[in-house]
Amino acid sequence: MRLIVGNWKMNLNPGEASLLVKRLEDKIKPDPKTEIVICPPFIDLYPIAKDLDRGKLKLGSQNIHYLDEGPFTGEISPAMLKGLADYAIIGHSERRAMGEDDKLIAKKMAAAIRNDITPVLCVGETLAERQHGLAKKVIVDQLTADLTQLTATDVAKIVVAYEPVWSINHGDGNIVHAKPEDITFAYTTIRTLLEELYGEEGVSGLRLLYGGSADPGHCRAYLEMPYVDGLLVGGASLNYEDFAKIVKVAQGLK
Ligand code: PEP
Repeated sequence: MRLIVGNWKMNLNPGEASLLVKRLEDKIKPDPKTEIVICPPFIDLYPIAKDLDRGKLKLGSQNIHYLDEGPFTGEISPAMLKGLADYAIIGHSERRAMGEDDKLIAKKMAAAIRNDITPVLCVGETLAERQHGLAKKVIVDQLTADLTQLTATDVAKIVVAYEPVWSINHGDGNIVHAKPEDITFAYTTIRTLLEELYGEEGVSGLRLLYGGSADPGHCRAYLEMPYVDGLLVGGASLNYEDFAKIVKVAQGLK
């Protein structure tokens, strides 16, 4: 099933979030072939969940803790998200940049699976790594390390988002769109590695997303590429018209 995930990042208070959801629900039509997931900040999840039309939208979190409970001030565990969030973004480059390493990400992946939350694992190289010819190594190293606690059956349930850090919109007006060959290269790397590590079973249900400055003007080209099962959308997911347009393009594909 095609998957479009909106990452709202650190934006919108509960009132603003509920309004955005209402507007999205008015614009989006349910489609059994396309799953639409929004990932608001934690504080917005509960108010949104109360009135959500789950036939149209599902909820995800932007992060989780790796344990189910305990003395961890300010953290939210996957167990606390049960019934609220079906998905969790894990290993986003903005969190890796704040110090999250692959060891921690591996524990979070296991925590998500343990709590029946589908992890959306983000991998991708920085501009400097790309310029030094390290893109493949970074993707392979991140994936290998991040999945160490999972079995082939677990891996079959995950979503992997290839998000080259250089193409993510950091709000500085410098937007770089990845070329199809960049994405094909990354996807081939990801699929080949997962097949090597986890066999046929590991890749049997695997969904691969692309993320990086996806917008209504560029989404079709990405979505039509072989092996692209959907998109992880940042900035454009905060604009209900843009996000609804992306959803419509996805729903219109064969
Ligand atoms: C992201 O941060 O996951 C992302 C894809 O952001 P944007 O679409 O704004 O580049």
